[in-house]
Amino acid sequence: TPVTVAVDGPSGSGKSTVSRTVALGFDLAYLDTGAMFRALTWAALEQGTDLTDVDAVAHLARTVEIDQSTDPARPGLAVAGTDITRAIRESRISSQVSAVATNLDVRGELARRQRELIADARRRGRGMVAEGRDITTVIAPDAEVRILLTADEEARLRRRQRQSGGSQVTDATRDEVLRRDRDDSTVSNFTTAADGVTHIDTSALDLQGSIDAVVSV
Ligand code: C5P
Repeated sequence: TPVTVAVDGPSGSGKSTVSRTVALGFDLAYLDTGAMFRALTWAALEQGTDLTDVDAVAHLARTVEIDQSTDPARPGLAVAGTDITRAIRESRISSQVSAVATNLDVRGELARRQRELIADARRRGRGMVAEGRDITTVIAPDAEVRILLTADEEARLRRRQRQSGGSQVTDATRDEVLRRDRDDSTVSNFTTAADGVTHIDTSALDLQGSIDAVVSV
């Protein structure tokens, strides 16, 4: 029977790399829900929508065509035919995505799409690793495996800096990560594990250590 693995955690907890690697290893589909919020942010900026205009952004969420790969071997995402796999990682998106993610109509619409993708994978007889901020609690509370990955601030800043190619943690990275944590904490509590969710602190673990910890759950 297909298994759903739900993974939540903040930026820099290692959740994306760990989730994708576990999906590859167990032949499961992979859903990066943060990428959907990023795609919507990209689309809103692209068409000049004011991100604080709650109704306009909600309308866009209901109508935008997001084509997202759930193949962990080639993750990617397009909006209305434009490949934005790389563009959604730009700091102009990271710094503004929380404004979109705190819109409750947007959350409702993306939740609907996410549950559909999880159900699709199950129908095809293939399980899925879905990762985000509220997967273990809101999107898939019935998932067979539910994990919260966290890491202390220094570890998360170090990983973010490495991802953007630098060796020293810059003020810009620190500001962005901490501000996004603060903004995101208003929509979902992803620092303490809900009932039945296994909490793994990856601060002292490398990638392989984190994967081993997740696989042993
Ligand atoms: O995981 P990632 O850092 O790419 O997520 C980008 C943003 O999307 C988060 O900062 C958060 O605002 C939003 N998000 C969310 N709920 C999720 C996944 C992401 O609100 N399940």
